[in-house]
Formats: sequence, structure tokens, C-alpha cells
Amino acid sequence: MTRKKAVVDAAIAGADLDKGLLLLLTGNGKGKSSSAFGMVARTLGYGLKAGVVQFIKSRRDTGEEKFFGQQPGVQWQVLGDGFTWDTQNREADIATAQRAWAVAQGFLRDASLHLVVLDELTYLLKYGYLDAQQVCADLAARPPMQHVAITGRAAPECLLEMADTVSEIQDVKHAFRSGVRAQPGIDL
Ligand code: ATP
Ligand code: MG
Repeated sequence: MTRKKAVVDAAIAGADLDKGLLLLLTGNGKGKSSSAFGMVARTLGYGLKAGVVQFIKSRRDTGEEKFFGQQPGVQWQVLGDGFTWDTQNREADIATAQRAWAVAQGFLRDASLHLVVLDELTYLLKYGYLDAQQVCADLAARPPMQHVAITGRAAPECLLEMADTVSEIQDVKHAFRSGVRAQPGIDL
């Protein structure tokens, strides 16, 4: 244990860089968005500011929005309203995605935001509604100390390569498959 502690302590002492991180939370298990919102809470704990764009969810009654939407340090934008997944109007979906990305671009130019959360962004890249090269270029051009957390399944390769921290959350079990509906405070 003493030897192990010395190795860990040396690794911690050696990690002396500060930089704005790109975090990618992906995979099929539960815990991607809620992890990102946990980092928003930590950010607010230090009196710092955060911006959140929810690209998919059009519902406005989630616990996260009820809470964080009231916090003065948070800019909370739910921009998934125009999607027509069912009616398959691709032009309209691309327009919705681009409107949402324009809001994200504003956050990615705002150095007063310590953390930007791009919740469920990966789906818009997967369906080709946003150009991955453009998205990666905008991420690369952000203020150097700004952290960005991106969530969603099926992250494209360029995001995986660019990210500093990648977690792939595995689906081992989910209560939904036992017939349990989404629970307030846990799932929404
Ligand atoms: P959360 O917001 O709870 O962290 P998530 O962001 O990892 O979840 P999403 O794909 O965005 O996952 O799905 C959000 C909703 O779907 C939540 O209600 C979550 O509990 C549920 N969910 C997540 N993963 C699964 C799964 N593997 N099977 C069924 N439902 C799931
Ligand atoms: Mg999610």
C-alpha cells in the first residue's frame, strides 16, 4: 500500500498542467447527461459560470432545467424543438440543428463561461445535420481555459480523437427493461 501510494502521489505531483478540457461522455449506459450536469453543479460551487445547450430534448419539464434554469450563473438553452424525426423533413431538421449550433458557437466564444455542456450533440453529427469538421473547428477555437462536456451515444471519430477525457458508459442493466417508467430526479 505504501509503495502504491508513493506511485499515485508521484503521478498526482507530475500532473501540473491546467487547460480547458474537452470531455466526451458516450456509450449506451445511463449516466451521460447527469454526469455533465454534475459538473455544472461543481462549476457553480466555485462561483463560476456555465452554458448548457440541450440539442435533442424538447421537453421543458426536466429536473435539471427546473433547478439549473433558475441559477444566475447558468445559461440554459433547450433547442431541440424543431426536429421532425417522425415526419422526416431533413431540411427542417438541418435548419433546427444549425440554429442550435449558432447558440453553441456563442457559448464557445464566451470566455466568461468556465464550462459549456453540449448535451446530446453527437446525434446531430451522426445524422449529418451538422458538419463534424465545422463543429471540431469551433471547439478547437474556443477560449483556452474553457471546459466543454459533450454527451450522446455514437460519438464520431473526430470527437474521440480531439477529446482529452472520454468515458464510454456501458449498459449492464436498466430498470426500463423491467417495465419501470422514467423516475423524477433520476431519469428526468
Ligand atoms: P441520464 O440523463 O440519466 O444521465 P443518459 O444521458 O446517459 O441518461 P440518454 O441516452 O440521454 O442517457 O437517455 C436519457 C434517458 O433514457 C434517461 O431517462 C435514462 O435513464 C434513460 N436511459 C439511459 N440509458 C438507457 C438504457 N440503456 N436503456 C433504457 N433507458 C436508458
Ligand atoms: Mg442524455
